[in-house]
Amino acid sequence: MQIHEFQEMMKQLYFYRDSKRGIRGTLEWLFDEVEELREALEKGDKKETEEEFADVIAWLASLANIARIDLEKAALEKYPGTCPQCLHSPCECTF
Ligand SMILES: [Zn+2]
Repeated sequence: MQIHEFQEMMKQLYFYRDSKRGIRGTLEWLFDEVEELREALEKGDKKETEEEFADVIAWLASLANIARIDLEKAALEKYPGTCPQCLHSPCECTF
């Protein structure tokens, strides 16, 4: 499954409900899921961490649907296989 297909699936599942919540409300849910991901990573529980990564990408896709952004197009335009800053792969930017 491609990123675009995943985003379309999320649209089928949640667009109606999430569009009623709006961008700001859906963004708050995404922040909550990112916080839960942080907690899972700190705990070191692999299964829980996988589930939180899934929730973050699901809410990100849902937010993109409401904002009418094609995630796959946006990601590949900015990251076409090279670093957008130094244009190398792997990245050679200094920290
Ligand atoms: Zn770089």
